[in-house]
Amino acid sequence: MSEWLDMTACQMKAAMAAGRTSSRELVAASLARIERLDGRIGAFLSTRGEQALAEAEAIDRRRASGEPLGPLAGVPVAVKDNLCTADGLATTCASRMLENFRAPYSAHVVERIVAADGVIVGKCNLDEFAMGSSTENSSSGPTRNPWSLDCVPGGSSGGSAAAVAARMVPLALGSDTGGSIRQPASHCGIVGLKPTYGRVSRYGLVAFASSLDQIGPMARTAEDAALLLGVIAGHDARDATSVAEAPPDYAAAMDAVDVSRLRIGMPREYFGEGLDAEVDQLVREAIRTFAEAGAEIVEVDLPHAPYAVAAYYLVATAEASSNLARYDGVHYGRRASEHAGLVDMYSRSRAEGFGDEVKRRIMLGTYALSSGYYDAYYLKALKVRRLIKRDFDRALEQVDCLMGPICPTAAFRFGEKTEDPLQMYLSDIYTISANLATIPGLSVPCGRTSAGLPVGLQMLGDVFSEGLLLGAARWLERARGGEGGDALGRPAILDEEGVA
Ligand code: GLN
Repeated sequence: MSEWLDMTACQMKAAMAAGRTSSRELVAASLARIERLDGRIGAFLSTRGEQALAEAEAIDRRRASGEPLGPLAGVPVAVKDNLCTADGLATTCASRMLENFRAPYSAHVVERIVAADGVIVGKCNLDEFAMGSSTENSSSGPTRNPWSLDCVPGGSSGGSAAAVAARMVPLALGSDTGGSIRQPASHCGIVGLKPTYGRVSRYGLVAFASSLDQIGPMARTAEDAALLLGVIAGHDARDATSVAEAPPDYAAAMDAVDVSRLRIGMPREYFGEGLDAEVDQLVREAIRTFAEAGAEIVEVDLPHAPYAVAAYYLVATAEASSNLARYDGVHYGRRASEHAGLVDMYSRSRAEGFGDEVKRRIMLGTYALSSGYYDAYYLKALKVRRLIKRDFDRALEQVDCLMGPICPTAAFRFGEKTEDPLQMYLSDIYTISANLATIPGLSVPCGRTSAGLPVGLQMLGDVFSEGLLLGAARWLERARGGEGGDALGRPAILDEEGVA
């Protein structure tokens, strides 16, 4: 029965523990919903039907025999297709370059999900190599927003966000280099968290910009996001940037949040020109809800915020041009079948394998790193990055967390920004600073526009403040009279005849 899919992951766990349903039933419902709806949404690039059902049955058997189960205990989960899975599914990054790539190992986070008894049902669409803000840059075609099929789901983790919003799965993983978890979470009306850099191991995440990339949870509620974060967070010796400090108990950290004592900063720079009036209003109303509960709201300055987009698109493209050098048709990836010698083979393989946006990034990054321009562009961008970090440090000395918008507008229509890459890049203006500063950022739904499109509230905090952000997000969900996306209602596509 697919009403099981209206449950959150935590509710599913309780229902399974009480014997009201089984992992097999939940996984079968998830696969059936994907089968039914995904032709129109396009959230998944691959699914693991038989294998997932067999794993679910094995978990049910272990439960029946009284064996203790891990924290995901049979819950269906989806992962973004830039995470390596050694289970027979391809890891494509939505690129022709990797269309037939089968990873010989699984990402750390995938191993953690399996060890926690989660059942991976499939892999989700994304902008090619996670480069984009709309999931329009996928070699397999775009994902559609479940709230309005004419609109983008946001990107680059648009497939993961749409899968959760359409209740195909309660939990998914995304990756966030400049907003790719938070921004699609905002556009699809779900919760998305980019953890502190180093909190989650990047081992087995196909690298885009290594100093910015971070994997994080996407879910319909803050509580579910905390559940998945607890599973994936923690030290891993295979990622040299993984932090040694053990993660806290996120459920306890959330319980410890006392909203009446919270000091919340509103960055002046996040409420200026370019912010859509309806988004502005919904975000301010959400912040007012905290004020009414006794939180203190203060305005803060992030004076270098206007330079974040420029700095990000130098740092991210520089790192991408270096990371993507490995796809030469020899080490990794597609090899052109016809060529005249080695150099021609390299260039034809890359010309065939990469899409336009990836090529644009490689060219920008190679230029920024070239000997004549390195100091003027790349080094300058690193200095600006340091100043942006300092802005956050200063602001977070005065307040516990910052709140503001995720994106200047709600989800836009297909094609609206593809002709003008700069317009697309500017939509990242509120999210990319957190990656440059390595701090955690969360998106929680705060309402819908008059067109019915979801809008997220962004919360930013000091490094390792995930528990605080999740606790504040859960408080807002409850104050809004529902859990996460549920206060928004349901995407209409779920109520169409024959879909429920
Ligand atoms: N939209 C940003 C970009 O295109 C961020 C992408 C991401 O976070 N992966 O680079």
